[in-house]
Amino acid sequence: LVSRKKKPEDTIVNINGEAIGDGKPHFVFGPCAVESYEQVAEVAKAVKAKGLKMLRGGAFKPRTSPYDFQGLGIEGLKILKKVADEYDLAVVSEIVNPADIEHAVEYIDVIQIGARNMQNFELLKAAGAVKKPVLLKRGLAATIDEFINAAEYIISQGNGDIILCERGIRTYEKATRNTLDISAVPILKQETHLPVFVDVTHSTGRRDLLLPTAKAALAIGADGVMAEVHPDPAVALSDSAQQMDLDQFDHFYKEVLKGRTIE
Ligand code: PEP
Ligand code: MN
Repeated sequence: LVSRKKKPEDTIVNINGEAIGDGKPHFVFGPCAVESYEQVAEVAKAVKAKGLKMLRGGAFKPRTSPYDFQGLGIEGLKILKKVADEYDLAVVSEIVNPADIEHAVEYIDVIQIGARNMQNFELLKAAGAVKKPVLLKRGLAATIDEFINAAEYIISQGNGDIILCERGIRTYEKATRNTLDISAVPILKQETHLPVFVDVTHSTGRRDLLLPTAKAALAIGADGVMAEVHPDPAVALSDSAQQMDLDQFDHFYKEVLKGRTIE
Protein backbone atom coordinates (compact mmCIF):
# COMPACT_ATOMS: atom_id res chain seq x y z
CA LEU A 1 0.00 0.00 0.00
CA VAL A 2 2.92 2.39 0.45
CA SER A 3 4.21 1.65 -3.04
CA ARG A 4 4.19 4.41 -5.61
CA LYS A 5 3.09 1.81 -8.14
CA LYS A 6 -0.18 1.46 -6.21
CA LYS A 7 -0.65 5.20 -5.72
CA PRO A 8 1.33 7.49 -8.04
CA GLU A 9 0.45 10.76 -6.33
CA ASP A 10 2.34 12.03 -3.27
CA THR A 11 0.74 11.52 0.13
CA ILE A 12 0.31 14.75 2.04
CA VAL A 13 0.38 14.49 5.83
CA ASN A 14 -1.39 17.43 7.45
CA ILE A 15 0.01 18.50 10.79
CA ASN A 16 -1.09 21.72 12.48
CA GLY A 17 -1.63 23.55 9.21
CA GLU A 18 1.50 22.21 7.51
CA ALA A 19 1.04 20.03 4.45
CA ILE A 20 4.00 17.69 4.62
CA GLY A 21 4.78 16.33 1.20
CA ASP A 22 3.65 19.48 -0.65
CA GLY A 23 7.11 20.11 -2.10
CA LYS A 24 8.05 22.76 0.44
CA PRO A 25 10.56 22.10 3.22
CA HIS A 26 9.18 21.43 6.72
CA PHE A 27 11.01 21.27 10.02
CA VAL A 28 10.74 19.52 13.36
CA PHE A 29 12.92 21.00 16.09
CA GLY A 30 13.05 20.42 19.81
CA PRO A 31 15.13 18.90 22.53
CA CYS A 32 16.32 15.33 22.52
CA ALA A 33 14.48 14.69 25.78
CA VAL A 34 11.88 16.54 27.82
CA GLU A 35 13.67 17.56 31.00
CA SER A 36 11.44 20.28 32.47
CA TYR A 37 8.63 22.66 31.58
CA GLU A 38 11.06 25.61 31.39
CA GLN A 39 13.49 23.77 29.12
CA VAL A 40 10.78 22.77 26.64
CA ALA A 41 9.10 26.20 26.78
CA GLU A 42 12.33 28.00 25.92
CA VAL A 43 12.77 25.91 22.80
CA ALA A 44 9.08 26.18 21.90
CA LYS A 45 9.32 29.96 22.07
CA ALA A 46 12.23 29.94 19.60
CA VAL A 47 10.38 27.51 17.30
CA LYS A 48 7.23 29.64 17.39
CA ALA A 49 9.24 32.82 16.69
CA LYS A 50 10.30 31.29 13.37
CA GLY A 51 6.70 30.65 12.38
CA LEU A 52 7.22 26.92 12.67
CA LYS A 53 4.45 24.54 13.70
CA MET A 54 6.02 21.40 15.12
CA LEU A 55 7.93 20.62 18.29
CA ARG A 56 9.75 17.42 19.15
CA GLY A 57 10.81 16.07 22.52
CA GLY A 58 11.36 12.59 23.89
CA ALA A 59 9.42 11.49 26.96
CA PHE A 60 10.21 7.79 26.59
CA LYS A 61 13.90 7.60 25.76
CA PRO A 62 15.30 4.37 24.36
CA ARG A 63 18.83 4.56 25.79
CA THR A 64 21.73 2.25 25.10
CA SER A 65 22.53 1.99 28.80
CA PRO A 66 19.83 1.25 31.40
CA TYR A 67 21.66 3.63 33.75
CA ASP A 68 21.25 6.64 31.44
CA PHE A 69 18.32 9.06 31.73
CA GLN A 70 15.24 7.18 30.57
CA GLY A 71 12.92 10.14 30.09
CA LEU A 72 10.03 11.50 32.15
CA GLY A 73 7.41 9.20 30.62
CA ILE A 74 3.79 10.34 30.77
CA GLU A 75 4.87 13.32 32.89
CA GLY A 76 7.03 14.37 29.94
CA LEU A 77 4.10 14.07 27.56
CA LYS A 78 2.04 16.29 29.87
CA ILE A 79 4.76 18.94 29.79
CA LEU A 80 4.92 18.76 26.00
CA LYS A 81 1.15 19.10 25.72
CA LYS A 82 1.04 22.11 28.03
CA VAL A 83 3.83 23.89 26.14
CA ALA A 84 2.40 22.95 22.76
CA ASP A 85 -1.00 24.37 23.69
CA GLU A 86 0.59 27.61 24.89
CA TYR A 87 2.60 28.07 21.69
CA ASP A 88 0.18 26.45 19.24
CA LEU A 89 2.63 23.76 18.18
CA ALA A 90 2.10 20.13 17.23
CA VAL A 91 3.98 17.63 19.35
CA VAL A 92 6.13 14.88 17.88
CA SER A 93 7.17 12.35 20.51
CA GLU A 94 8.43 8.80 20.56
CA ILE A 95 6.34 5.97 21.93
CA VAL A 96 8.12 2.71 22.70
CA ASN A 97 5.38 0.54 24.13
CA PRO A 98 2.31 -0.48 22.09
CA ALA A 99 0.24 -0.36 25.29
CA ASP A 100 1.01 3.36 25.69
CA ILE A 101 -0.30 4.43 22.31
CA GLU A 102 -3.97 4.70 23.20
CA HIS A 103 -3.24 6.93 26.20
CA ALA A 104 -0.37 8.88 24.61
CA VAL A 105 -2.45 10.12 21.69
CA GLU A 106 -4.28 12.42 24.12
CA TYR A 107 -1.02 14.34 24.51
CA ILE A 108 0.78 14.10 21.19
CA ASP A 109 0.03 14.95 17.57
CA VAL A 110 2.58 12.75 15.86
CA ILE A 111 3.68 9.32 17.07
CA GLN A 112 7.38 8.86 16.55
CA ILE A 113 8.63 5.31 16.17
CA GLY A 114 12.35 5.27 16.86
CA ALA A 115 15.15 3.53 15.04
CA ARG A 116 15.43 0.83 17.69
CA ASN A 117 11.77 -0.02 17.30
CA MET A 118 11.46 0.06 13.52
CA GLN A 119 10.80 -3.64 13.50
CA ASN A 120 8.75 -3.78 16.68
CA PHE A 121 5.82 -5.13 14.73
CA GLU A 122 3.31 -4.93 17.59
CA LEU A 123 4.18 -1.26 18.02
CA LEU A 124 3.85 -0.67 14.27
CA LYS A 125 0.44 -2.34 14.25
CA ALA A 126 -0.70 -0.34 17.28
CA ALA A 127 0.38 2.90 15.58
CA GLY A 128 -1.45 1.79 12.46
CA ALA A 129 -4.66 1.32 14.39
CA VAL A 130 -5.01 4.95 15.54
CA LYS A 131 -5.79 8.09 13.60
CA LYS A 132 -2.56 10.00 14.23
CA PRO A 133 0.30 10.74 11.89
CA VAL A 134 3.34 8.55 12.45
CA LEU A 135 6.96 9.56 11.99
CA LEU A 136 8.79 6.31 11.37
CA LYS A 137 12.55 6.26 11.70
CA ARG A 138 14.81 3.93 9.81
CA GLY A 139 16.40 1.22 11.93
CA LEU A 140 20.11 1.41 12.73
CA ALA A 141 20.84 -1.54 10.48
CA ALA A 142 17.72 -1.69 8.36
CA THR A 143 17.78 -1.97 4.60
CA ILE A 144 15.54 0.35 2.63
CA ASP A 145 13.34 -2.60 1.82
CA GLU A 146 12.92 -3.44 5.52
CA PHE A 147 12.17 0.23 6.21
CA ILE A 148 9.45 0.27 3.57
CA ASN A 149 8.00 -2.94 4.97
CA ALA A 150 7.86 -1.38 8.43
CA ALA A 151 5.75 1.44 6.96
CA GLU A 152 3.61 -1.19 5.28
CA TYR A 153 2.83 -2.66 8.73
CA ILE A 154 1.40 0.71 9.77
CA ILE A 155 -0.61 1.43 6.64
CA SER A 156 -1.95 -2.13 6.51
CA GLN A 157 -3.84 -1.37 9.74
CA GLY A 158 -5.55 1.60 8.14
CA ASN A 159 -3.28 4.52 9.00
CA GLY A 160 -1.60 5.97 5.92
CA ASP A 161 -0.41 9.23 7.51
CA ILE A 162 3.22 8.18 7.64
CA ILE A 163 6.41 10.23 7.36
CA LEU A 164 9.56 8.22 6.73
CA CYS A 165 12.68 9.50 8.44
CA GLU A 166 16.23 8.61 7.43
CA ARG A 167 18.43 8.97 10.51
CA GLY A 168 21.69 7.35 9.52
CA ILE A 169 22.74 3.73 9.53
CA ARG A 170 25.55 1.89 11.23
CA THR A 171 28.70 1.42 9.19
CA TYR A 172 32.42 1.04 9.93
CA GLU A 173 32.83 4.83 9.73
CA LYS A 174 33.54 6.42 13.11
CA ALA A 175 33.83 10.09 12.09
CA THR A 176 30.08 10.45 12.49
CA ARG A 177 27.75 8.74 14.96
CA ASN A 178 25.93 7.02 12.11
CA THR A 179 26.34 7.26 8.35
CA LEU A 180 23.69 9.41 6.71
CA ASP A 181 22.39 7.44 3.75
CA ILE A 182 21.47 10.44 1.66
CA SER A 183 20.56 8.38 -1.40
CA ALA A 184 17.84 6.69 0.66
CA VAL A 185 15.84 9.91 0.26
CA PRO A 186 15.29 9.78 -3.53
CA ILE A 187 14.96 5.99 -3.41
CA LEU A 188 12.18 6.23 -0.80
CA LYS A 189 10.53 8.99 -2.83
CA GLN A 190 10.62 6.81 -5.93
CA GLU A 191 9.51 3.60 -4.27
CA THR A 192 6.81 5.06 -2.03
CA HIS A 193 4.33 7.95 -2.10
CA LEU A 194 5.16 8.93 1.49
CA PRO A 195 6.93 12.11 2.62
CA VAL A 196 10.55 11.68 3.66
CA PHE A 197 12.43 13.53 6.40
CA VAL A 198 16.08 13.50 7.37
CA ASP A 199 17.12 13.65 11.03
CA VAL A 200 20.48 15.39 10.85
CA THR A 201 21.15 15.20 14.60
CA HIS A 202 21.13 11.45 15.03
CA SER A 203 22.62 10.69 11.63
CA THR A 204 25.72 12.79 12.20
CA GLY A 205 26.00 13.14 15.97
CA ARG A 206 27.96 16.30 15.21
CA ARG A 207 26.78 19.87 15.62
CA ASP A 208 29.16 21.12 12.91
CA LEU A 209 27.53 18.85 10.33
CA LEU A 210 23.89 19.74 10.99
CA LEU A 211 23.68 22.57 8.49
CA PRO A 212 25.53 20.98 5.53
CA THR A 213 23.60 17.71 5.90
CA ALA A 214 20.28 19.56 6.21
CA LYS A 215 21.05 21.48 3.01
CA ALA A 216 22.00 18.24 1.29
CA ALA A 217 18.76 16.61 2.47
CA LEU A 218 16.59 19.39 1.06
CA ALA A 219 18.64 19.55 -2.16
CA ILE A 220 18.15 15.84 -2.78
CA GLY A 221 14.40 16.09 -2.30
CA ALA A 222 13.62 15.53 1.37
CA ASP A 223 10.27 16.92 2.51
CA GLY A 224 11.72 18.04 5.78
CA VAL A 225 14.45 18.00 8.35
CA MET A 226 14.49 17.09 12.03
CA ALA A 227 17.15 18.49 14.37
CA GLU A 228 17.58 18.79 18.12
CA VAL A 229 17.67 22.10 19.97
CA HIS A 230 18.32 22.59 23.69
CA PRO A 231 18.58 25.85 25.66
CA ASP A 232 21.85 24.64 27.22
CA PRO A 233 23.19 21.54 25.46
CA ALA A 234 26.14 21.26 27.83
CA VAL A 235 23.82 20.21 30.65
CA ALA A 236 21.41 18.18 28.50
CA LEU A 237 20.52 14.79 29.98
CA SER A 238 20.98 13.13 26.56
CA ASP A 239 22.72 13.89 23.26
CA SER A 240 24.59 16.85 24.67
CA ALA A 241 27.27 16.79 21.93
CA GLN A 242 24.96 17.37 19.01
CA GLN A 243 22.04 19.54 20.08
CA MET A 244 22.07 23.16 18.95
CA ASP A 245 21.73 25.97 21.46
CA LEU A 246 19.28 28.77 20.67
CA ASP A 247 21.83 30.98 18.88
CA GLN A 248 23.04 28.09 16.79
CA PHE A 249 19.39 27.30 16.04
CA ASP A 250 18.81 30.87 14.78
CA HIS A 251 21.87 30.63 12.56
CA PHE A 252 20.91 27.17 11.30
CA TYR A 253 17.41 28.23 10.35
CA LYS A 254 18.59 31.41 8.66
CA GLU A 255 21.14 29.51 6.57
CA VAL A 256 19.29 26.32 5.73
CA LEU A 257 16.79 27.96 3.37
CA LYS A 258 19.28 30.35 1.75
CA GLY A 259 19.56 30.11 -2.00
CA ARG A 260 16.47 27.97 -2.35
CA THR A 261 13.75 28.86 -4.80
CA ILE A 262 11.03 27.20 -2.75
CA GLU A 263 10.99 28.50 0.82
C1 PEP B 1 15.07 10.54 18.79
O1 PEP B 1 14.75 11.12 17.74
O2 PEP B 1 14.81 10.98 19.90
C2 PEP B 1 15.82 9.27 18.71
C3 PEP B 1 16.06 8.52 19.78
O3 PEP B 1 16.24 8.95 17.47
P1 PEP B 1 16.56 7.52 16.82
O4 PEP B 1 15.42 6.63 17.14
O5 PEP B 1 16.65 7.85 15.36
O6 PEP B 1 17.86 7.08 17.39
MN1 MN C 1 18.60 12.64 20.65
